[in-house]
Amino acid sequence: MMEEGTQIPEKTQTTPCPGCGGPISYAPSLDAQMVVCPYCKLASAVVPEGLAPVGDTAPLAEMPSLFAMGKRGVLEGKAFVVAGRARYQYEDGFWDEWILYFPEDEKAMWVTEDEGEWVFFREKQVLQEHTDVGSWSAMSQAEVADKSFFVNERGACTPLGAEGQIFMIPAFGVSYEYADGTTQEGEEIVVMDMGQSTAVCLGHPIGFGEITWKET
Ligand SMILES: [Zn+2]
Repeated sequence: MMEEGTQIPEKTQTTPCPGCGGPISYAPSLDAQMVVCPYCKLASAVVPEGLAPVGDTAPLAEMPSLFAMGKRGVLEGKAFVVAGRARYQYEDGFWDEWILYFPEDEKAMWVTEDEGEWVFFREKQVLQEHTDVGSWSAMSQAEVADKSFFVNERGACTPLGAEGQIFMIPAFGVSYEYADGTTQEGEEIVVMDMGQSTAVCLGHPIGFGEITWKET
């Protein structure tokens, strides 16, 4: 069951889940265009007609975190509410991608949490083309879109599960090649080969003290 206070309050719409019929609340204007049913865990794409089923997701085992669905805070001067989370498994464990909804801008940004380290991502570009990320080597230079960067790490990750409203994931339980690195401008960059498309994400590390949490 969705707990009180976990719904996104601003400009939301409630639509029956295409799987179980349970009510799913989401913000249609938000650029995170996938929602996960809190009842049956089916992931659906947000489309003009409502929701289109994509596939089942696995329930997430809870790990200690300062983030939680529906929690509110302020980051870099702007108020947000935690609207979703996606979990990716990789060689060294897993990371969580916490979707933060900034109502003032009607924009979703996200923080990745990996063994207590946070990176705040503000920009996701989806290129409608395949990029052979698997051919890149760690500790070498690579280029994507108009970004030149140094590859710190390369590997494969698998989206395990999610909750709330998240960025589009074409399929759960399958493996995607990714690379992360540092651009010439000093930004953190993550490139993920999604098959028909390529996600390019830009961000920077943040400390725990940079988020002011609001009492709920
Ligand atoms: Zn459902």
